[in-house]
Amino acid sequence: MIYLDHAATTPVPREVADAMYEVLTEQFGNPSSQYQMGLDMKKRVENWRRTVAAALGCEAERLYFTACGTEGDNWAIQAACWQNRHVGRHIVTTAVEHSAVLECCKWMEQQGYEVTRLVPDGNGNITAEQVLEAVRPDTALVSVMMVNNELGNVYPIADIARGLASRNPKTLLHTDAVQGFLEVPFTARALGADFITVSAHKIGGPKGTGALYIGPRVRNPRPLLAGGGQEKGLRAGTEATAQIAGFAKAAELRMKGLDNKLAHMASIKEYAKERLAEIPDLLFLGNGTAPHILAVSLVGWPSQNIVNDLGSQGICISAGSACHQGKPSHVVAALKLPKKVSGGVIRLSFGPETTKADIDACAEALKRHHDTRMPML
Ligand code: PLP
Repeated sequence: MIYLDHAATTPVPREVADAMYEVLTEQFGNPSSQYQMGLDMKKRVENWRRTVAAALGCEAERLYFTACGTEGDNWAIQAACWQNRHVGRHIVTTAVEHSAVLECCKWMEQQGYEVTRLVPDGNGNITAEQVLEAVRPDTALVSVMMVNNELGNVYPIADIARGLASRNPKTLLHTDAVQGFLEVPFTARALGADFITVSAHKIGGPKGTGALYIGPRVRNPRPLLAGGGQEKGLRAGTEATAQIAGFAKAAELRMKGLDNKLAHMASIKEYAKERLAEIPDLLFLGNGTAPHILAVSLVGWPSQNIVNDLGSQGICISAGSACHQGKPSHVVAALKLPKKVSGGVIRLSFGPETTKADIDACAEALKRHHDTRMPML
């Protein structure tokens, strides 16, 4: 199998699975239990928190484990709006966020919030100026993703944070960094966002765990779930110890030689561009600088057919985001491309293990698809 869909999810290395297995079977204690196994587990959860926090570049006490990136996004948006309920009921976001952000913003609309959804240019770019211009005195929250999951565009979060300080210092800033964490270099400390969402399964960790960074400007963040006192009373629910152990192990492994891994992915992406440029009717989309995501269109050939054809040859790529499952992607729609182009969009995404041979096989299969199938769009 040739796996070129790392933006959807990533393989779990053996060491990560082993770390989880030990916690599932031997050290399975509940961190809230008062006997030794529970007390030990509590300490281990704190160690794992320190590991993930170090990878994110923040103090461990600012990091809360969640069940996924989706939860982090929902929690951040609702906590920010709660804190700023007296500032106003306006949210600025983009039309190309992950549905975890977009759907939560729709909920906020149903509760009386006004949502401004910024539209990118034809290359998928959103500028800091565009975001700041949309901010008003009553803007409670700005939520802009760090890396677009379908295009690989990197958005200027640090510039938005700096600009907000003068435009409206009360507005809180959330960034969904699920596709940015350990893919593009940043530290939570230097970024200036008030909330940062990350997820384990995009960096070699298990599905079903993530974390939310909550910065010092957020006072008494409102929990999303009512329940027990876990995570300092802010995220109820028995800690998913095995998932968290796996998350920490994945972050630790990814951090080893991170710069080399990012450089490798960037060189793989460059190589993929060279190889794909040989295919007639192939257009590169966006100008995504994230090293792991490349969006292209085989203009005229329906993307689902391409995905199915390559899938039948053991090559895994996706038609836009895996989360859409066949429905047209809102990200591609926001680019306002001609139907022939938007209908043919596919996404290749890479990991540290991706090889040039993987790219060769994919490029050849795409070329065959082009040469042997009729365009239908
Ligand atoms: N945000 C972005 C940008 C993503 O790409 C994803 C997953 O694809 C998510 C959020 C959701 O993360 P999770 O699958 O952990 O809920």
